[in-house]
Amino acid sequence: MARYIGPVCRLCRREGEKLFLKGEKCMKQSCPVSKRPVPPGQHGASRRKQSEYGLQLREKQKAKRIYGVLEAQFYNYFVDADRLPGVTGDNLLRLLETRLDNVVYRLGFGRSRTEARQVVRHNLVRVNGKKVNIPSYRVRVNDTVEIKDDAKSFQRFKDILDVTHSRIVPAWLSADHENLRGTVMSLPSRDQIDLNLRETLIVELYSK
Ligand code: SF4
Repeated sequence: MARYIGPVCRLCRREGEKLFLKGEKCMKQSCPVSKRPVPPGQHGASRRKQSEYGLQLREKQKAKRIYGVLEAQFYNYFVDADRLPGVTGDNLLRLLETRLDNVVYRLGFGRSRTEARQVVRHNLVRVNGKKVNIPSYRVRVNDTVEIKDDAKSFQRFKDILDVTHSRIVPAWLSADHENLRGTVMSLPSRDQIDLNLRETLIVELYSK
């Protein structure tokens, strides 16, 4: 499955804020957004005020980058969200949040969504006891998401938990860090998704 493999800090600088794409480094002073909070490129610092379209586009790009989803797949999420009952923007974020790689990240089994995605791709995750290695797999209420038994003792997960144990697990998930296991208690509501995203701008962009 295609994914972005270029420099990720550049993506944060383009959006002008931390998107937390790198795990530990994002918390340090060496984060490029902390050091140099201007868009990349020769004229990055002198960019002018954005148009309405520009704002909508940037919000969509930001959401794509946070969740590590490329354009075609992101648009499919929008189409699915639009078909569901309720508010399209809320539905869109809910679909993105319930991706398996995001759930692994939210449970603290990955320092970043990229690492969580790698954990899934490397066959280390079980959903309801079954191997699932598809990062976009959509979890459902009452699903259990767990690191496979013989991987639980890997140093890798000790290192990950050293970094993530203090991270707040959202209320729609319950995490058991000792056993590297989590449960989906409910689907996330908008106020349980702690992202600085204006999803209505994304809906407006695609609704033109
Ligand atoms: Fe973004 Fe993290 Fe890089 Fe900072 S260190 S620019 S938050 S990916």
